[in-house]
Amino acid sequence: MSNVDLKKLIKESIRSLSPYSTESIQSEIKLHANESPFPPPKELHDQFTEFIKSFQLNRYPDPDSKKLKESIAKKLDTKKENLVIGNGSDEIILLLLQVFCKEGDNIIIPDPTFAMYAIIAQSLGVKTTIVPLDSSWDFNGNLLLETAEKNKSRLIFLSYPNNPTGNCFSETEIIKVIEEFEGIIVLDEAYYDFSQKSFINEIKKNNNLIVLRSLSKIGLAAMRVGFGVANALIIKEINKVRLPYNSNMLSQKFAEHLINNFQLVQKQIDYIIDERKRLTDELKKNKSLTVFPTESNFILFKTKQSADELFYHLLYNGILVRNLSTHPKLNNCLRVTVGTKSENDRFLSEVKTYSMK
Ligand SMILES: *Cc1c(COP(=O)(O)O)cnc(C)c1O
Repeated sequence: MSNVDLKKLIKESIRSLSPYSTESIQSEIKLHANESPFPPPKELHDQFTEFIKSFQLNRYPDPDSKKLKESIAKKLDTKKENLVIGNGSDEIILLLLQVFCKEGDNIIIPDPTFAMYAIIAQSLGVKTTIVPLDSSWDFNGNLLLETAEKNKSRLIFLSYPNNPTGNCFSETEIIKVIEEFEGIIVLDEAYYDFSQKSFINEIKKNNNLIVLRSLSKIGLAAMRVGFGVANALIIKEINKVRLPYNSNMLSQKFAEHLINNFQLVQKQIDYIIDERKRLTDELKKNKSLTVFPTESNFILFKTKQSADELFYHLLYNGILVRNLSTHPKLNNCLRVTVGTKSENDRFLSEVKTYSMK
């Protein structure tokens, strides 16, 4: 029998972390996680189940995800050497922090933004400095650069569009930061398909820029596929710390298949963009809400009354959204993912019922 002091053995940077909370609340209508409301189109699914029959499950998957990279390279007009595949783009965030930061180093993130940057950084003993966003959820390039210089920051993470605010930061400020920062800029374009705005073309001119993309928001969240685009030298270094079989056979194959038949998925994306407009316009008619502009597949809004009350009203009526109101800058704010037309109608109708109470 052994009874070692486990608490003493666990690193302080891990003990002080609180677990990432994803709502595990069961709900009929899930508008809390920015997933696609649609599974991949049936044609894709049917072909994929055919592929599975020929899989050699006793063999390791391709450690270089060659075929998947070829599909992506063709679609994005880039090269295999500029790509890394992750088990979700979250994994690439981890890999980048491993490659560029040692314990005690500093990174910069805007606030509010995606929680994982700071969580993964802390798990590695890397310090995070936040730069507060202004009232239109944008930042000043000079201020960001000054903060980076003061802290000798090695990495800047920018979510573009930004989660949870939904907007894209100003292009001129981003370009300024890319051109003047003497470290690495990571542009996390997880919601690219809904904004259609990208900095991928800047990679050719700027060797300090890394763009992240994900298939999680366009119907393949369960498969965990994300990828990074960067200078070939950066990719080479990432490959040294990446576990050899980080991307499994099923994920590689389904992702490749989906990218090769993207026109089918594009129809779903177009539907969501249309619904985003309708949902925004309808929410704006409600005088007790402030609706923030969005270029993603979700909408951030602020309630005049208590956001907690609206959150629970929705939940009791079978609709789960993301409650952000504990964040100091997001007082009384909720985030709703654009769903199907009927899901959005149910959501709108419950918001209306609540507001009339
Ligand atoms: C959802 C999300 C991700 C995570 O994507 P995965 O590929 O599922 O790991 C990354 N960045 C942002 C900003 C996100 O919102």
